[in-house]
Amino acid sequence: MNVLRVCIVAVVGVIGAASSAGRAQSLPHIDAVIEEMELAVLAGDPAAYLRHVAPTECAGCDAFFRAEQEAWAADLAKVRPVKFELSASEPREREDGGVAVMLVMEYAMPEGPAKKGARAEWTGVFRRHGDDGKSGEVNGDRWLYHGEPWLVLEREGFVVKYEPGFEEVAEEAAAAFPVSKSHADEGFGITNAKPQQIKLYHDMEHLKASVYLSMPDSSLGGWNEPGESIKFMTWYTRGEGWKQAFAHEYAHVATWEMGPRARQNMPWWMAEGVAELSAERFRPGYVAALDKMMRDLAASNALVAWQEIIDYQTAAQRVKQMAYMQGHHLMGYVSERFGREGRNAWIREVAAGKTLDEATRGALGTGFAELDAAWRESLKER
Ligand SMILES: [Zn+2]
Repeated sequence: MNVLRVCIVAVVGVIGAASSAGRAQSLPHIDAVIEEMELAVLAGDPAAYLRHVAPTECAGCDAFFRAEQEAWAADLAKVRPVKFELSASEPREREDGGVAVMLVMEYAMPEGPAKKGARAEWTGVFRRHGDDGKSGEVNGDRWLYHGEPWLVLEREGFVVKYEPGFEEVAEEAAAAFPVSKSHADEGFGITNAKPQQIKLYHDMEHLKASVYLSMPDSSLGGWNEPGESIKFMTWYTRGEGWKQAFAHEYAHVATWEMGPRARQNMPWWMAEGVAELSAERFRPGYVAALDKMMRDLAASNALVAWQEIIDYQTAAQRVKQMAYMQGHHLMGYVSERFGREGRNAWIREVAAGKTLDEATRGALGTGFAELDAAWRESLKER
């Protein structure tokens, strides 16, 4: 209750400041929405929060943004913030009838990097909707949150969204993505004509606040989940480096196309390992270095058990890199020993929902423990 009271006081403060500064008439409506969003978050109520977010389909709606907000909201039911304040200022009317405001989000979580509090700010857009949820209704009563007013590069099959001042990096990303996508589609033997969205952030707190509040990483270079945009920090890489970056991230999208249970059922090390495998084409010299590192780790008995890196949420910080490196090496081993067809069949069985052992037996004709033992044995050969 205490948090709630502090919160409402903060919102009233914003409204007071707004009217005294003679801001746009629409601001009290926006603040009313923001206050309800805030209360929904503090109540840990995803459905109540999502009532204020633009739907998947309407004129001017964005299905990727909606999916991102649904994932953001779902987290509230798992971990409720101990503090959450959202405030708006500097309203500006937009040509499309919406209102852009500077949003400031201050929050604290019971555990994790945001335990001592976090703060993010960005420009957010609100637009009028009618009661039926359609956008652009001049007299509609409902103001819904539409996310950021991104600048957009439209390309065949995908868009790149970015902020003013980042035109060059957006062009680099747009040039690289199709190359990485064709490489991954071919490697995984899929065709994927679904539109893809890419978002480039220049402020990490903004990126983190857009993912979900209980985010276990204090530092984030990008993000990617089914139905969501592929998100990257603008500084993540440059020029040709984007090919490698997208070959990894889009490989996740490709594997989600390989079976309905891919996201839920695939061990984290397999998801990251196969994504690293997809990126190796664009990382000259890396495979040899990785191979040496894995052999050195094997010699000093420092490889990890697969169970330790099976889940991103529960893996210990000290072993997280191994999901990428050890996972990559095993996927490379399987590709060499069983061919691309065998490897892809293995991924498809996991993506269909089989257990790891069933999938390994079905596609590779051996149990997973035997496969692991053979892989470890192969690391002893120099
Ligand atoms: Zn990844």
